[in-house]
Amino acid sequence: MRGLHWFRGDLRLHDNTALSALCSRVEQWLPVFILDPRFDEDSVLGQRRHSFLLDCLEHLQEDLRQRGVPFLLRRGEPHKVVPELMHQTGARLLSFNEDTTPYARRRDDAVERAVTAIGGKVLVRTDRVVFRASEVQTAAGKSYGVYSPYRTTWWKRWQREPRPSTPGARLPAAIPGFATTTCDGVVALESLRTRPPLPTGGEVAARQRLRIFLETAVANYHVDRDRPDVDGTSRLSPYLRFGVLSVRECFERGLEAAAQEPPSRPGVAKWLDELVWRDFYAAILEENPRVLRHNHRREFDAVKWNEDDEGFEAWCQGRTGFPVVDAGMRQLRETGWMHNRMRMVTASFLTKDLLIDWRRGERFFFEQLVDGDPASNSGGWQWAASTGTDAQPYFRIFNPTLQGKRWDPKGNYVRRWVPELSDVPAASIHAPTESIRPKDYPSPILDHAQRRVAAMERFQAARPSRSRPPLFLQQGGGQGN
Ligand code: FAD
Repeated sequence: MRGLHWFRGDLRLHDNTALSALCSRVEQWLPVFILDPRFDEDSVLGQRRHSFLLDCLEHLQEDLRQRGVPFLLRRGEPHKVVPELMHQTGARLLSFNEDTTPYARRRDDAVERAVTAIGGKVLVRTDRVVFRASEVQTAAGKSYGVYSPYRTTWWKRWQREPRPSTPGARLPAAIPGFATTTCDGVVALESLRTRPPLPTGGEVAARQRLRIFLETAVANYHVDRDRPDVDGTSRLSPYLRFGVLSVRECFERGLEAAAQEPPSRPGVAKWLDELVWRDFYAAILEENPRVLRHNHRREFDAVKWNEDDEGFEAWCQGRTGFPVVDAGMRQLRETGWMHNRMRMVTASFLTKDLLIDWRRGERFFFEQLVDGDPASNSGGWQWAASTGTDAQPYFRIFNPTLQGKRWDPKGNYVRRWVPELSDVPAASIHAPTESIRPKDYPSPILDHAQRRVAAMERFQAARPSRSRPPLFLQQGGGQGN
């Protein structure tokens, strides 16, 4: 039998579940990637993700070439391209890994219908996450809305039924008579290339980064992960986003590292829990597709957001006059990646200090991020806006100045991304007074103390019960206030 593997968010040969399943069933095969016209919309893929994707495709193409397999790149609507290709190649089986985002579900249903209509068969596997939503549920068979019990059940499931990674599949022979289509033949490549720095694409770079992280920074991850001035996290998110690296392999290598180096255990445990967050947000989106555009907690639908285009623009440009917020936004604009703590701080600033709808911020992040992922991005934004499941309570509002002092104590992160402040001493860098503030750096665009009270009132007013949080919580406390 002949088969096709449709690569999408699984751009690797190693430990690829659907690809392995196909390879064990067919005598001949071909790989295909389809550039969906929908990718042309900037907001869907974003320039940086487009560019990183092409780099990863080129690496995959080279890995396949070395194994004597041509890579078919096609442009068009998948439900039309796939049956055409099956017809041309004589393939009867199509494999792909599941994608549970709303557009992908509609797309894949259409493809499956088209393939079945011509007498073909479809082989679908879970690959992007370790466990899909239906595999981590309460005893009553319900989904979790809170991370902590989800995490406990997730690990119990892993203990019962670990999902080991598998070596690269033994690839069957390629269906004869086909040649690789170059990326250049399919898209105007240069127009999609963005300026560096983007991470190097491809499986080799991804696995090397994983190895180096597990040999070095992971040991202190539990301590350093909130410090944007320290290179303390893995920076694997773009690779995981495009499936260039297997998430199962991350778990397996992480657990091996912890077994071999007991002092690294707390760091590894914390790091793996972050990967469980990734499964958690994917499960939330799988079960509630509406969270991409709507508040998870409907009680906050009545929150009155500000229009404030000027404030939004200052936030996007990194010119709010709050150094740590500006540093985060400039890191994002310049590199397409932002440290997690800074994502939380900048998102909180937009939704609580500026009181701008989280959806505007979520869109902006999604356009800019090389790791932009619908589930994690909407999950992170709804967490910061207090509208999500298991979110930051609305009355705990980050103070951007204190966040800066706490997590960037010497101001090195701010100096790196806000060069106007490079000569400001550490003691004043997170709140430079007028006398030391350089002329080209803006004064704060708002008064945090006032906006904090306004945000609490706005959220309070939206709640039907009008019950107030305990006074001690209103006055501070909690994470980083
Ligand atoms: P590490 O700390 O090394 O963590 C390892 C991996 O675990 C990450 O690569 C990521 O896949 C996963 N992970 C870590 N933290 C989280 C988290 N809080 N939620 C879900 N997964 C997590 N992550 C994305 O991958 N894409 C996004 O579009 C995205 N948008 C976000 C928006 C906001 C407002 C917030 C607060 C967080 C967002 N995150 C997003 C989560 C997190 O910030 C990034 O995954 C992390 O900063 C990536 O850096 P890293 O690879 O060095 O992470």
